[in-house]
Amino acid sequence: MRGWLTDMIRADNRTTKTNIIMVGIGKSTMLLRMRSDFHPFDESARSVMAKAYSKSKNRLILLDNEGTLGPSDPFKGNEFLAQVAPLSEPVENILRVLAADPHNTICVISGRERDHMQDKFGGIKNLGIAAENGYYHAWVNENQPLEFSKLMEIKDWGWKETVLDILKSYKDRTDGSFIVNKDCSARWFYRDVDTDFGIKESNELVAHLQIILENLPLDIVHGKGYVEVKPRGIGKGTYTNQMLDYVRKKKGDIDFILCMGDSTTDEETFASVKEAPRSATLEVSSLLRRIEKHILCDCGTEGVVGRLLRE
Ligand SMILES: [Mg+2]
Repeated sequence: MRGWLTDMIRADNRTTKTNIIMVGIGKSTMLLRMRSDFHPFDESARSVMAKAYSKSKNRLILLDNEGTLGPSDPFKGNEFLAQVAPLSEPVENILRVLAADPHNTICVISGRERDHMQDKFGGIKNLGIAAENGYYHAWVNENQPLEFSKLMEIKDWGWKETVLDILKSYKDRTDGSFIVNKDCSARWFYRDVDTDFGIKESNELVAHLQIILENLPLDIVHGKGYVEVKPRGIGKGTYTNQMLDYVRKKKGDIDFILCMGDSTTDEETFASVKEAPRSATLEVSSLLRRIEKHILCDCGTEGVVGRLLRE
């Protein structure tokens, strides 16, 4: 194992300084490449975060939905489209308490559509809800239907039909795959497909789309088990920047930021926050969550945000 590790380090040509660490036991063993400034989410990190939280007066908390506040997409195919995985009671209670604190601005950012988010989070007063990765935003007000505003106005949707035709051809030839046609994007899911075949098909689809959509202001995202096409600029990063501006204008300088997520789309949130001037920022990234699962089993989302409330 050590020889392999050494080869990996030598083969790496990145300029950013990173460390490779090994976590897990037996079959669950994995190697993770971490930035050199990475800190495991251990007891001392939790204590620092809890102290920073209790001292701060204007906090921004941005949380991903599936895979972070609960299980990652527990349903398959058509079930995935129709079902809403409920929040666990402890997580719902924590969100309720955090959202009720006037020093907090707390938002859940999800790739899911508005109806799904309304059903799942529409009862938590003061919570910010971002659907379709931030294309739609709403604040939850008691006893009132959610009023969603758009992140930006997109005029040209002519690309959607072409993209859907291409996605359909891949769906037809790939058993177990399905398409989700959202307001601002079109997504082909292959997560329920045989792993090797799904990866092969998805890579081919991405290459195909890159040729067809070249020179159009669109992003092709190859995420965890899906390929998505959306207008450039729509995403968690732009949403985060707008939320940072909103909170600063409304409440002044932000002195505590916590972001949690488990997938590549959340990296946009982390990147936006890193660029923001702040006095205390804590980031719980996908890698941290993976490490929590393998080393610090008591520190899921409930462990992280629950600790803030207990201190
Ligand atoms: Mg997620």
